[in-house]
Amino acid sequence: MKKSDAVIFFAFVFFFMGSASGLPAGAEVRTVPVANGLYIVEGLEGGNVAFLVTDGGVLVVDSGTSPEAGRLIMAEIAKKTDRPVKYLVLTHYHGDHTFGLQAFPPSTVIIAQQNTADNMRSLNEPRLRGMMEDQMPEMIVAQKLKVETLRKRKGKELPKEEAALRALETQLAELKELRFVYPAITFQTKLSVFLGGQEIEVVHLGRAHTDGDALIHFPGLNVLHAGDLLFAASYPYIGVEAGADTANWIAAIERAASWEVGTVIPGHGRITDKQGLLKMAAYLSELREAVKSAIAAGKSLAEAKKMAPLPSWNGFARERQLPSNIEAVYNELIRK
Ligand SMILES: [Zn+2]
Repeated sequence: MKKSDAVIFFAFVFFFMGSASGLPAGAEVRTVPVANGLYIVEGLEGGNVAFLVTDGGVLVVDSGTSPEAGRLIMAEIAKKTDRPVKYLVLTHYHGDHTFGLQAFPPSTVIIAQQNTADNMRSLNEPRLRGMMEDQMPEMIVAQKLKVETLRKRKGKELPKEEAALRALETQLAELKELRFVYPAITFQTKLSVFLGGQEIEVVHLGRAHTDGDALIHFPGLNVLHAGDLLFAASYPYIGVEAGADTANWIAAIERAASWEVGTVIPGHGRITDKQGLLKMAAYLSELREAVKSAIAAGKSLAEAKKMAPLPSWNGFARERQLPSNIEAVYNELIRK
């Protein structure tokens, strides 16, 4: 593994895994109503999980960031209904949306866009196997050596480095618990689920955050789960390793915004509306224009990555994503 691959890889795992429990420190998991029968589970790390309770059973959107998160989601659903979880729809393959799958009953039918099912096999599984079998054990050996040296020298960084070692060991144990569970049904552009007298539309609008994004539209409730097409009030992650395309991402958001939708559940961040959704498209458009100008001015990628945030992005969370956002767009623009 090249060093740059390793950095991306660790960012991937640690962003998605978060703490070992799948919970931010001190957080309490609770279920919050969004519309009639539709809820989101709050207090978990990773992507926003929603579930719809109907007389015909339950449909869940995404599965949380770890097996433990999946179990917590199942426990929250059980507090609302004793009807079975019939369907679980994935918005895309990223681990913070799929690593909880094993906690759902085997009878739950998992649905995903075809590219998402492919990405789970070709990207998640080999990465995690490499992490479990090679990188994490190597990191633990190196960290143990560091701790032993500090012990001998009675270094004052010892407690911090010991805690880091324990965190690595816990993360490895959690990774080893992961089982790969795959969709039973895939689709290309659109699939409708009929449950308890409601239609739920699962729609793929082409490459955006990844090449397999699904938007979940609840037309009867005027609600859209936008998956990671929307990082509400935050810099997005652009999934270049899975064919992300910011030009089409903007077009996809504009199309989704033309649907009958009042409430928008983002992949990450707080519940919002169409305006909140369109802000993501506005950000991506401005970013593309800014990077286009940098390229036209003859700037290298390294120079372009030093760009200051535009004033209209003020207050966006996760500003550390900006250089990688610039890199994704730069490479997209010079490719075309
Ligand atoms: Zn994602």
